[in-house]
Amino acid sequence: MVMLAPSGQNHPHKLRQLYAPFLGLAEHSRRVIGTVAGSFAREDRRYTIPRFTFLGPGDGGAQRRIGLFALLHGDEPAGAAALLRWLQTLADRPALAAGYDLVCYPLCNPTGYEDGTRCSRAGLDLNREFWRNSAAPEISILEGELRTQQFDGVIALHADDTSDGLYGYAHGRVFNENLLLPALRASERVLPRDRRAVIDGFAASEGIIADCFPGVLAPPPDQQPQPFEVIFETPAVMPLDKQVEAAQTALHAMLAAHRGFIAHAQYL
Ligand SMILES: [Zn+2]
Repeated sequence: MVMLAPSGQNHPHKLRQLYAPFLGLAEHSRRVIGTVAGSFAREDRRYTIPRFTFLGPGDGGAQRRIGLFALLHGDEPAGAAALLRWLQTLADRPALAAGYDLVCYPLCNPTGYEDGTRCSRAGLDLNREFWRNSAAPEISILEGELRTQQFDGVIALHADDTSDGLYGYAHGRVFNENLLLPALRASERVLPRDRRAVIDGFAASEGIIADCFPGVLAPPPDQQPQPFEVIFETPAVMPLDKQVEAAQTALHAMLAAHRGFIAHAQYL
């Protein structure tokens, strides 16, 4: 079940409606831990950036840790709903996440989500503020998470209202071929891939863009070894349930592809 409030100005229960099913999941599954990444005050209210961690069963090696981020733009709810659906599926079938701890941030921009706007209430596009000494509290909280969690990979979910299809960005050729491409192949059974030569102003090929904007959510620039980094975009003009299904499918595909990739890389 996907529960999301309709967008609109200052819906007082909107944030609670978004959290509620995640909290319910954390209550019912001992593998899902609900905590708070951080909180900040805005006007006379306090806003929280929640963190829900799925603890996958061990697979004999060290757990790999992936960070998943949604609603960095407050008007793109599909990513949060996809994380919820994905966590619900994994709670029923934990073996799918064997060897992984999946740290999910379904609500990175709470004021923007409450207002139904891309930007935060301070007027900032948060996805242009990373690793640039931003004073935005959301960025301090998320940069802190990216530093302390030391992710093996980072996935950001977005929805683009200028595209009719699925596309993405991965940092580096290896991850384009081994993570993003399997994700696009799997999810295009749900929605078409955007095959234009230029997407969002960037040169693109088969739904993979060659570059991205500076300041997007990314691992710490000095983290070694560099984690993988993927941005997955659904077409915001398409029905929400299709976007959710496509994004969820992409997440399953990326996890499976990463597991295969790691296993293969050991023998290279
Ligand atoms: Zn976005």
